[in-house]
Amino acid sequence: MAMFGNLSDRLVEALGNLRAKGKLTPADVDGTVREIRRALLEADVALPVVKDFVTHVRERALSDDVNRALNPAQQVVQIVNDELVRILGGTESRQIAFAKQPPTVIMLVGLQGAGKTTLAGKLAKWFVGQKHSPMLVAADLQRPNAVTQLRIVGDQAGVPVFSPEPGNGVGDPVRVARESMRIARDKQHDIVIVDTAGRLGVDEALMKQAADIKAAVNPDEVFFVIDSMIGQDAVATAKAFHDGVGFTGAVLTKLDADTRGGAALSVAQTTGQPIMFASVGEKLDDFEVFHPDRMASRILN
Ligand code: GDP
Repeated sequence: MAMFGNLSDRLVEALGNLRAKGKLTPADVDGTVREIRRALLEADVALPVVKDFVTHVRERALSDDVNRALNPAQQVVQIVNDELVRILGGTESRQIAFAKQPPTVIMLVGLQGAGKTTLAGKLAKWFVGQKHSPMLVAADLQRPNAVTQLRIVGDQAGVPVFSPEPGNGVGDPVRVARESMRIARDKQHDIVIVDTAGRLGVDEALMKQAADIKAAVNPDEVFFVIDSMIGQDAVATAKAFHDGVGFTGAVLTKLDADTRGGAALSVAQTTGQPIMFASVGEKLDDFEVFHPDRMASRILN
């Protein structure tokens, strides 16, 4: 997998240069930290995240609080690994916050093309595999075809899709979302996944609509879906959605593509919300629970 190709190569190289050294001098550590800093910046990781990262690595590498069982180079690799895990969200993966009274409502927000509709199908299929009974809701009435596309992924996942009649793209998404809650209860679906409209860029109408849908369905989870190729825009976009709608977790999509890594490495730390899942392809099975520690070791190997 091409995941983080260049960043990964650069970090491995920077750390590899230490291997020849028996004992690390502060100058060795500084040199390595500089290379790490450059590699992260070139991978479009947000500047505050980079600064924080390298400060931690440097402090820890120069402190006495190191694992004596490892040689100096291995110690730095270990520290970089730990710090990657930390900025990706820490060692504990967060579980989905299921509602005490079903249905559990999960709302998807994000820019157009981020992969929300595809993700709705992936989540639905994943929940079916865990013996849940999900329903999908087409509250994206903006984009021509969004409803049809959701129906297609719903069919593939074998779950029903609640939507206005096809072709009737001028409906009110807030009303559709509200109505879907009643249907879900009637039909005893224990999970409802609400797909919402995105725009090409962040705009006020989009935020207001998403906030209105959120108020109407009172979701247990709001997942901010973000294309991992988006690079430096990741942080601004994430902040706009965090301030405008609020979300409880992020989902990274298109991690199968040759992404530079910036979004993945910036979003959790700058919003304080965990990355819950990763989407790694166009097929419904191309989907993983996100584990910061596994992601860190993929980057460093
Ligand atoms: P939405 O506008 O947010 O609903 O985005 P879509 O679900 O329509 O996805 C936009 C495009 O990205 C589609 O062509 C999807 O097939 C594609 N896509 C979605 N997720 C992934 C992924 O994880 N990897 C790849 N390679 N393509 C994806």
